[in-house]
Amino acid sequence: MGEQVEVETPNPRAQIGGIAGKLDGRRLESVEAVGKNLLLRFEGGYVLRSHLRMNGRWTLVPRGAELRGRPWLVLRGARYEARQWNGPVLELHVRAIRRLGPDVLAPEPDFVRMLANLRSGDQGRGVGDAILDQRIVAGIGNKWKAEALWAARLSPWRPLSDTSDGELRTVLEAAARMMRGSLGGRRHANRVYRHAGRPCPRCGGRIAARGQGDANRTAYWCPACQL
Ligand SMILES: [Zn+2]
Repeated sequence: MGEQVEVETPNPRAQIGGIAGKLDGRRLESVEAVGKNLLLRFEGGYVLRSHLRMNGRWTLVPRGAELRGRPWLVLRGARYEARQWNGPVLELHVRAIRRLGPDVLAPEPDFVRMLANLRSGDQGRGVGDAILDQRIVAGIGNKWKAEALWAARLSPWRPLSDTSDGELRTVLEAAARMMRGSLGGRRHANRVYRHAGRPCPRCGGRIAARGQGDANRTAYWCPACQL
């Protein structure tokens, strides 16, 4: 970590997406295990996700050690090289890092800055609309918005002005926890997302759905227990 690395994808199956061309020569900023995934972050906002499933493996050898076979990925630093064999999951994500809020999936999400961002904008905005704003917090999608608000018992329509810092933090932490769990392979049973008209698993109330925000993305919530 911390070095500019040479990146190759010798296995033809790993060459889809041009990973080597995009990452070669970039600095490897961090490597983090999230569940069974390995997230490799490169400068420029690139995140490579590797999942080994049953047969994949990593090896770490001195730079230039003999290579037999075709690994999916080779990351070559000044002294060592890491090789990933048998894939089968190698996905490159690009984050437009400029103007984005703190990453909800960061190893240590910056909840303080997310909160400051929430407080620096229009306080008449509904919580559900605000947490989907990628300039405030990056990474929360429509499903996790709905599920995190349900977990925190907060209505997506509650204006920020009527919401305490503690309540906002609870929602953000719930979203981060659920999303990391999901990324790590934990199954998540939806409580309200796409459950319009069905009973709330907490209180039995009828789950509602309505478009919210400029993008009119559907908010799902239980009007009986999310206030
Ligand atoms: Zn309910």
